[in-house]
Amino acid sequence: MTETSNLITSTQSVIHKALDNLGYDEGMYELIKAPLRMLKVCIPIKMDDGSVKVFTGYRAQHNDAAGPTKGGVRFHPDVTEEEVIALAMWMTLKAGIVDIPYGGGKGGVVCDPRSMSSREKEEISRGYVRAISQIAGPTKDIPAPDVYTDAQTMAWMMDEYSVKHSDDPFEFITGKPLAVGGSKGRETATAMGAVMCVEQAMEKVGISMKGARIVIQGFGNAGGYVSKMLHDKGAKIIGISRSSGALYNPEGIDIDYVLRNRGKVNLAEKLPAESITNEALLEVDCDVLIPAAIANQITESNAWDIKAEIICEAANGPTTEGATRILTEKGVLIIPDVLASAGGVTVSYFEWVQNKQGFYWEEEEIKELLEGKMTAAFEAIYKLHQSRQMDMRLAAYTLGIKRVSEAVRFRGWA
Ligand code: GLU
Repeated sequence: MTETSNLITSTQSVIHKALDNLGYDEGMYELIKAPLRMLKVCIPIKMDDGSVKVFTGYRAQHNDAAGPTKGGVRFHPDVTEEEVIALAMWMTLKAGIVDIPYGGGKGGVVCDPRSMSSREKEEISRGYVRAISQIAGPTKDIPAPDVYTDAQTMAWMMDEYSVKHSDDPFEFITGKPLAVGGSKGRETATAMGAVMCVEQAMEKVGISMKGARIVIQGFGNAGGYVSKMLHDKGAKIIGISRSSGALYNPEGIDIDYVLRNRGKVNLAEKLPAESITNEALLEVDCDVLIPAAIANQITESNAWDIKAEIICEAANGPTTEGATRILTEKGVLIIPDVLASAGGVTVSYFEWVQNKQGFYWEEEEIKELLEGKMTAAFEAIYKLHQSRQMDMRLAAYTLGIKRVSEAVRFRGWA
């Protein structure tokens, strides 16, 4: 079984338990366990060398009972149909958790943008929008950035959409540059949402931010911003990593230096820190562990050795089901991925609302609105976890699936 089909089956298994908790029967599960629509498309591109290449793209729409589907588009050589489906289901959960009127969607193109020119990437972005335009649109399915796609990608996609739909092109997609209807605070929203969750979890566990010992696995977009924000709030980042290896210093790592110089100098040589393996990093004695890299990092084989009191899942699916059981038994407070990473889609919703109303909010207002959503979501999930003896993941899924299953029931679909 591949890692991604594992992702689907483990997501389905928790969704099943969540629907049981809410008192729904098998009919509801049968409807919600799979996407309503799945489109596979061919995108022919004329490459810079004059050859024609045909790329495969996908768009999954999990469930639109509660509103249009919403979610990112990733450009990556490992994109598969199964992965896109699992990620679309997660988007439904995220939207339900922060209580925004969307269902989950997700898209992807099998390609390697790291080896493509800007013109080739633009052609893929435009070709993808033409290919999915039958099922996408501001009231149907709203794309956004994801792995290896960014504000520029969104601008090309919006522009392509505007060729046929000149009335409302900004509302078609979120994560756009500010100059073409983007929202202040969108770029850092995912990291900010995760940090807000960490602050709340610290309050519950009784750890103060000043001097708190933090370990972050992965230093991409999320890991980089999260480390900077926590460092600025007075926490001590004692461990960081990239795929090539990890650095550890119990006295704290100079994060400003890392952010200024990453990719330019050999950090292991320049910083006073010990080089350790990525596996060892996860087991370092710390207060908060933030896996912000890839899936399946904390498993039944290392869960007992984790020393953190809080785990904030900034990556998608870093902890397996078995590991979640062990960590919960050990009393570790887990902030599950569908909650920890919900800040991005939340500010995407604010962007869509601003596009619709034509009035744009200041960054402080966006921050406040985001904080309101993240705080309410964390509190509701923590309460379910405490009062109903559910682990934090099942509590998050239970809250996440509530809105869409109610919408399905009211519409009479199941
Ligand atoms: N790709 C991001 C996510 O997976 C953002 C989705 C959005 O903004 O719609 O949450």
